[in-house]
Amino acid sequence: MKLDTTSAGIAPGSIMADLAHRIRLVLGDITSLNVQAVVTAANESLRGGGGVDGAVHSAAGPDLVAASRQLAPCQTGDTRITPGFNLAASHVIHAVGPVFHGGNSNESDLLASAYRRSLELAAAHQLPSIAFPCISTGVFGFPADQACVIAIDTVINWLPKNQFPETVTFCCFQATDHSLYCDRLIELGMISEG
Ligand code: ADP
Repeated sequence: MKLDTTSAGIAPGSIMADLAHRIRLVLGDITSLNVQAVVTAANESLRGGGGVDGAVHSAAGPDLVAASRQLAPCQTGDTRITPGFNLAASHVIHAVGPVFHGGNSNESDLLASAYRRSLELAAAHQLPSIAFPCISTGVFGFPADQACVIAIDTVINWLPKNQFPETVTFCCFQATDHSLYCDRLIELGMISEG
């Protein structure tokens, strides 16, 4: 079945084709990416955690936790920005996604907000490139398939209206997530099959 992108709140075909060159999909460790802004899946205390946040903090070095703690607390759905310290990325965007409590606690809106607020910070700092992990889908328990749709749709709604960031990378750490993103991006005409 062909996806009706208009009813999904997504731009029509011609705009989608223009967007394709601004979107990338990779399987791997986000800390190794050569982008201006790496997004980490943080918690409200911004003290560092496990998963992707642990990897980002260990690659950036101890200055990151000192910088991020000064910006705490950060409410769920919101973001903060710090330097990237020892990362190749010049900035880290700390995005606090929701803990999944079954789906009736505004989790979808809060997850979309975490992505949108990250994009807003990248735009405010005129950062050309940003990479997202699959926010909330680890310890926070958000179903990966639903989170994938929210992540991609939020980015696709942002890009046509904004010059920055110029490119957005979805960085999946697990092959199962990569496959979900791949299917969704093919469905939207952002990447081709094969
Ligand atoms: P949350 O608490 O928001 O659920 P997690 O860090 O537990 O955050 O998981 C979020 C996602 O980050 C998961 O899909 C996990 O596979 C992924 N992840 C873990 N380590 C890395 C990494 N080094 N690079 C990119 N993604 C990662």
